Amino acid sequence: MTLKDLHPWREGALIDSTWIAASPGQGTPVHDPADGAQIAEVPSLGAEETKRAIAAAQAALGGWRARPAGERADILMRWYALMLEHQEALARILTGEQGKPLAEARGEILYAAGFLRWFAEEARRIDGEIIPAPRSTQRILVWQEPVGVTAAITPWNFPAAMVTRKVAPALAAGCTMILKPAPETPLTALALGALAEEAGVPAGVFNIVPGDAAAIGSALMDSPVVRKLSFTGSTPVGRMLYAQAAPTLKRLSLELGGNAPFIVFDDADLDAAVDGAMLGKFRNAGQTCVCVNRFLVQDAVHDQFVDRLRERIAKLVVGPGTDPGVTIGPLINERAVVKVDDHVADAVRRGGRLVAGGKRDHGLFYQPTLIADVPADAQIARDETFGPLAGIIRFHTEEEAIRLANDTEFGLAAYVYTRDIGRAMRVSGALEYGMVGLNEAAISTEVAPFGGIKASGMGREGSRHGIAEYLELKYVMMGGL
Ligand code: NAD
Repeated sequence: MTLKDLHPWREGALIDSTWIAASPGQGTPVHDPADGAQIAEVPSLGAEETKRAIAAAQAALGGWRARPAGERADILMRWYALMLEHQEALARILTGEQGKPLAEARGEILYAAGFLRWFAEEARRIDGEIIPAPRSTQRILVWQEPVGVTAAITPWNFPAAMVTRKVAPALAAGCTMILKPAPETPLTALALGALAEEAGVPAGVFNIVPGDAAAIGSALMDSPVVRKLSFTGSTPVGRMLYAQAAPTLKRLSLELGGNAPFIVFDDADLDAAVDGAMLGKFRNAGQTCVCVNRFLVQDAVHDQFVDRLRERIAKLVVGPGTDPGVTIGPLINERAVVKVDDHVADAVRRGGRLVAGGKRDHGLFYQPTLIADVPADAQIARDETFGPLAGIIRFHTEEEAIRLANDTEFGLAAYVYTRDIGRAMRVSGALEYGMVGLNEAAISTEVAPFGGIKASGMGREGSRHGIAEYLELKYVMMGGL
């Protein structure tokens, strides 16, 4: 059975409720990273189609924002229910184009659907304030309004969740949206678009434009109609979009790269730390922006931690995500494999001790790799690996751990394992990061504010703060009362 048989929806683009199919041979091919086979072709659209999508989103805005919040919420809840109903098909589409093990893909569909439910609930809570005025003849009212037409640009590593955590708060707030999905993984986004239609999202409210990233990006950024962009992806592209937003003064949410430290103190519960390390490092084959990029382990437990991690890594199963029991799928492309290889070679050249793996397996598969005694100036410590490579750096004191952890331009997620409550609070406070996992590696949830600082970006997704990104405050001063 090919992925095409499993895809119950269209391969195309969605503009103003019209599905556009690719002209055969002229679109962008979508490949299964497990075997390189072409599984679909989606239209390769550009500036002209993006302008049409912006016009459609603008035309739909008035009607959508005027709908009572409860109606918008009901539509999002129907969309949520449809995602659950089609969880298996969506997971197979996701694994087909992205490669992660099916169990993880099923989990991502649930996680992604959670944003629809959460923001459906938040839609009903968009309220205002009455502020005591300076004079008795005055009243001050503050209310919240949708930002307007918005845009989203998403990456390939979470093809479902990155879409819903942008579109759900946008639609809940009364905004409309144009989405440009990652070229590697447009099918999951398009399947979500088909379900949105089925749920009753009106024409033009959610548009999906796959194709030429630079052309679509520029058309979105140049348009004064588009009032906000939410982007998840690499820091270089984020910086470029930030500059492109200046002429029209667009609001921005930027979820960019990370360089997460995972600090294990000698008083840590080592069982919990090893469990957290496996989840935080090897989920999605290490291709997660909050993935552990470097382990900082205190002297006294360093060797024991390395041994325990080696035993667990030996149990990982590399293979196509659709094979039962597989825990590590392929990397997304050749560039990703080369990057992991470079980081391994660099760490070993600088004196790191290769404990497990260290080589390409076959195709785009890479052996889960462990390197101990990595020097703090290795490439792993500077640059996001985005692959199944765990590099362990030794440290001696709490101050040194904090200094090493903060010695990076990034500030997305950090993890700390300790049983000393004072140390837990001190270190969590000292870490220059948007998110800290304290004796916990599973930090992504729709109920908490996800996001980073420094070169990891700005803005938060999820929680009540996530919807604020799509709302403007308006204040009305009433006089003469
Ligand atoms: P990328 O920046 O190359 O691509 C992300 C998206 O931007 C894609 O849709 C791509 O087509 C688009 N894009 C590329 N060039 C563009 C341009 N000139 N104009 C407009 N859009 C453009 O990143 P990637 O390699 O696909 O994703 C991996 C990166 O994303 C990693 O660095 C990772 O840390 C980061 N990421 C961050 C988060 C987070 O929440 N902070 C989540 C997932 C991934």
